[in-house]
Amino acid sequence: MSLFINFSYIISAILFIFGLKMLGSPATARRGNQLSALGMLLAIVVTLLNAGLDYKWIILGILVGSAIGVYAAVKVEMTAMPEMVALFNGFGGLASLFLAWAEYHQFLMDKAELPEMPTFIAIVTFLSVLIGGVTFSGSMVAFGKLSGKITQKAVVFTGQHLVNGAILAAALLAAAVFCANPGSGFGYFLFIVIVLISLGFGVTSTIPIGGADMPVVISLLNSYSGLAACAAGFVISNKLLIVAGALVGASGIILTKIMCKAMNRSLANVLFSGFGSTTAKSSGQGAQGEVRPASTEDVYYILEAADSVVFVPGYGLAVAQAQHVVRELGELLEKNDTEVSYAIHPVAGRMPGHMNVLLAEANVPYDQLVEMDDINPRMDSVDVCVVIGANDVVNPAALNDKSSPIYGMPIIETHRARTVIVLKRSMNPGFAGIENALFFGDNTRMYFGDAKESIQALVAQFKNN
Ligand code: NDP
Repeated sequence: MSLFINFSYIISAILFIFGLKMLGSPATARRGNQLSALGMLLAIVVTLLNAGLDYKWIILGILVGSAIGVYAAVKVEMTAMPEMVALFNGFGGLASLFLAWAEYHQFLMDKAELPEMPTFIAIVTFLSVLIGGVTFSGSMVAFGKLSGKITQKAVVFTGQHLVNGAILAAALLAAAVFCANPGSGFGYFLFIVIVLISLGFGVTSTIPIGGADMPVVISLLNSYSGLAACAAGFVISNKLLIVAGALVGASGIILTKIMCKAMNRSLANVLFSGFGSTTAKSSGQGAQGEVRPASTEDVYYILEAADSVVFVPGYGLAVAQAQHVVRELGELLEKNDTEVSYAIHPVAGRMPGHMNVLLAEANVPYDQLVEMDDINPRMDSVDVCVVIGANDVVNPAALNDKSSPIYGMPIIETHRARTVIVLKRSMNPGFAGIENALFFGDNTRMYFGDAKESIQALVAQFKNN
């Protein structure tokens, strides 16, 4: 049986690896997700074949977990995905913490019959608890910030790094004593201390990070949840948990690196700089001039005459759920012999890949999706850029205003296109809370209104003419 279980685990691991690889392209992402889910199903079924399991608790867990999963899948709005991912990461971390705790508790119960706990197991038990606890409480803070339940601003105070350093040092000291003699009565006391420290450290290390950096933090916490699972895998000697945890840990780190690059920040800067601790305000530089509103008819004539149109979607596209009508407009433009593409910024929206997911849902052809680095060099020759509910990711302050909080973040340089049409409801700022000089540019027309309604009106114009 053990041979069969291990063989099935290898199949699961292979399915995970191929699934992850396929997630790298929008064209194969759906199949990749299904493949990974199949791998997980196989892993669960095979794990249930292990002898000596108490099925009633497992079935209860499956029922409750599935009910929550189905509810979340049906109910949670696309725009609330990051919060949901934060919650799921957090519960992953908590599961690893509980698993290590249960194993340790069992070890103490069986101690009379068992030899001492090997130091290696004590170390991985500590790591499961520390990383799992930090992941849980850190994710709860991230959830609170993203959902606006707690302040999105970075909470900083003098000596914060010292306090965090002291907490970490206390955790390591407790761990050293715990690992030296985990079986003693004092060992359990230290274990509880480590649990409490890890939960506290998750909070103190996440509150100094501002809301605008949450995408990076979410992917980092995702990576932590994998590392905690990996450590938990060592605690219970489950090879697949080790492999799956390592895969999540590594892919989370890679995503974190990509996100940092997209925001032009180092990870250390995101974690320790307290970015966003003051209310972000535009320095005002360049954000002056005249706003030129455009009517549906104006925009129709501009688009109708264009040889090339680049759509630049942002968070507002998700809010308006305008992805299907955008695709319809794109098709009408193509019929009119216009070259159509969609430029995707890596942090547009509120979660990594947010825009790719929305456009894939609307069946936008993958070959029309262009990455920021590919569109920017040819931006000067683009006839019309249509910015749909994007703001921060097209804000030129990131390039030319050193006092701006987003200075240094690469943007889609729509201001260099011949004409820019911006679809949004008002002059309100985006996520970073700063003004945008693009809206005042000589080549910019503001097309105010809900993005879906505005595009529906354009589609109607194209169909009527
Ligand atoms: P922004 O948040 O900068 O701007 C969104 C714009 O959409 C707003 O200015 C808003 O203007 C407009 N909008 C909202 N609803 C509608 C609607 N129904 N119709 C039309 N327009 C609408 O979005 P971006 O995508 O440009 O930038 C993403 C920001 O979010 C970045 O700062 C990024 O760092 C951050 N972030 C990204 C995450 C990620 O992983 N991708 C996660 C968390 C944060 P108005 O109200 O006037 O309509």
